[in-house]
Amino acid sequence: KIAGPSGLVIFGVTGDLARKKLMPAVYDLANRGLLPPGFSLVGFARRDWEDEDFAQIVHDSVREHARTEFREEVWQQLAEGMRFIPGDFGDDQAFKQLRAAVEELDASRGTSGNYAFYLSVPPKFFPKVVKQLKKHGLADAPAGSWRRAVIEKPFGHNLKSARELNKVLHDVFDPEQVFRIDHYLGKETVQNILALRFANQMYEPVWNRSYVDHVQITMAEDIGIGGRAGYYDGIGSARDVIQNHLLQLMALTAMEEPIAFDADSLLTEKLKVLKSVRLPEDLGEHTVRGQYAEGWQGGAKVPGYLEEDGIDPTSKTDTYAAVKLEVDNRRWAGVPFYLRTGKRLGRRVTEIAVVFQRAPHSPFDSTATEELGANAIVFRVQPDEGMTVRFGSKVPGTSMEIRDVSMDFAYGESFTESSPEAYERLILDVLLGDANLFPRHQEVEESWKILDPIEEFWDKHGRPAQYASGSWGPGEADEMLARDGRSWRRP
Ligand code: NAD
Repeated sequence: KIAGPSGLVIFGVTGDLARKKLMPAVYDLANRGLLPPGFSLVGFARRDWEDEDFAQIVHDSVREHARTEFREEVWQQLAEGMRFIPGDFGDDQAFKQLRAAVEELDASRGTSGNYAFYLSVPPKFFPKVVKQLKKHGLADAPAGSWRRAVIEKPFGHNLKSARELNKVLHDVFDPEQVFRIDHYLGKETVQNILALRFANQMYEPVWNRSYVDHVQITMAEDIGIGGRAGYYDGIGSARDVIQNHLLQLMALTAMEEPIAFDADSLLTEKLKVLKSVRLPEDLGEHTVRGQYAEGWQGGAKVPGYLEEDGIDPTSKTDTYAAVKLEVDNRRWAGVPFYLRTGKRLGRRVTEIAVVFQRAPHSPFDSTATEELGANAIVFRVQPDEGMTVRFGSKVPGTSMEIRDVSMDFAYGESFTESSPEAYERLILDVLLGDANLFPRHQEVEESWKILDPIEEFWDKHGRPAQYASGSWGPGEADEMLARDGRSWRRP
């Protein structure tokens, strides 16, 4: 589907996200013919730039980060629709200029009053920018056209602040006009969870407590906090990753079939999962947080979290978190969902592993199957997007020995077209008004209801456990699963 007449205004256009992801994604969409001919891109930031300077910055970012090849004619057409507004978020004059630019583009490029405002800015500025849009008449669409606001995580710091943020947003925009970016939902494999479950017959019959032993959802990074100390300290891995990405992945894995593939139906089913989540009674036994200590990674010695630049040496911020959750409904009662995330772990990988129960009976003697693992279906979200099914198979030879083998589906091998970047998909969806892949405020609030008690418990009890950089997290996390008679996968 091609977007209709429209424009995109990016606030915070000099930031990291805009440069590495948003501007390249806009170009890639244009290059794939998915943007309308008069598409316009307006940048807003504090630099003293002219339109030409801005176009040059976009050009450089596209040359460096775009996924598709550079084509001069595509670039020229896009560049003609670029405007830059210099100013602070508090500057009324700049917002007047923005309004004038939008009206001028409506006339010169035929954007028809249809605009998305992308707030790629530090979260503390969300309220300010939104209020300025309202004050300067930019939030209200002229008759027959639309206005949309796009915001980035974090969506608050806890339930209370998330509610406050949602209130500010909804004072200005209707809930349907607000698009919250969870870029994981833009990834092909994540959307494929739904395709696999609901377009096929063979998985759904076993997708329940009668066959599934447990589910493990992992997002592991092999890097530390880099230059983002100011953002990360005081937030930590659970707020940064579990509250949004991992709980969304869990909701897609556990939800019932939606009555249709549309935003409202998906919301209804995801919300039911989040509302059914039950926390373990003993949070000390069933949650773990950690902090990376120094260690070796990629052949180099790396410092611990508390030695990183800009980090308070007494910080209790978690860089690793693991939690055990259950979904209290007929399909999942008693099946644990283990969620974990961390920085400076052994490998960069995101996956969802649905691990099945053992066969109830085996006609082979126990030596035949002693090395056999449980059956598992693993969605690989990144890298090497695809899916693996693990099962036992006979080892060639005379004796009956059974070992694990895997059957693999890799996107790169089955489809010739490379997968679009998550941001391409999500920006296009915003312009199309398709909200399927965007969490709504109810989901955000339900997710905080799950995380808040855990964070409060951690606040009151001790410090995060240390783990060596390059390892797979603190030993306490292994013990947490061992108590349940299970173990973490080593992806
Ligand atoms: P950043 O700090 O690099 O950029 C923020 C932008 O806002 C800059 O252009 C800055 O100049 C501008 N800005 C700040 N104060 C301003 C003011 N008073 N007036 C005008 N402009 C002002 O941040 P970022 O990394 O690009 O992230 C942007 C948003 O995306 C944040 O909400 C962040 O949490 C979120 N996010 C970023 C990433 C990422 O990969 N960088 C990933 C997920 C979410």
